[in-house]
Amino acid sequence: MKTVKILLALVLFFTISTAQPFKTEKYSLQSPSASYVYICVSRTSHAYHRNRYCRGLGRCKHSIKRIPESEAIQRGYRRCRICY
Ligand SMILES: [Zn+2]
Repeated sequence: MKTVKILLALVLFFTISTAQPFKTEKYSLQSPSASYVYICVSRTSHAYHRNRYCRGLGRCKHSIKRIPESEAIQRGYRRCRICY
């Protein structure tokens, strides 16, 4: 039973820690002009990048696409932790 509780706590911790950047982003970043970001077109990548030459993108073995940040968010991408 103890392990179940630890697992639950871990899941809770991760959902809270990953949800937080979105909250702050909504209110602090409201630029009318769409800023473009870079994504790796792959099923395994879930981050978008500010920098085309980011270390995170360097691992991308597929094509790299430049799309508006709002579109990246809509597609379920999250901000890269290296370049943001
Ligand atoms: Zn990055």
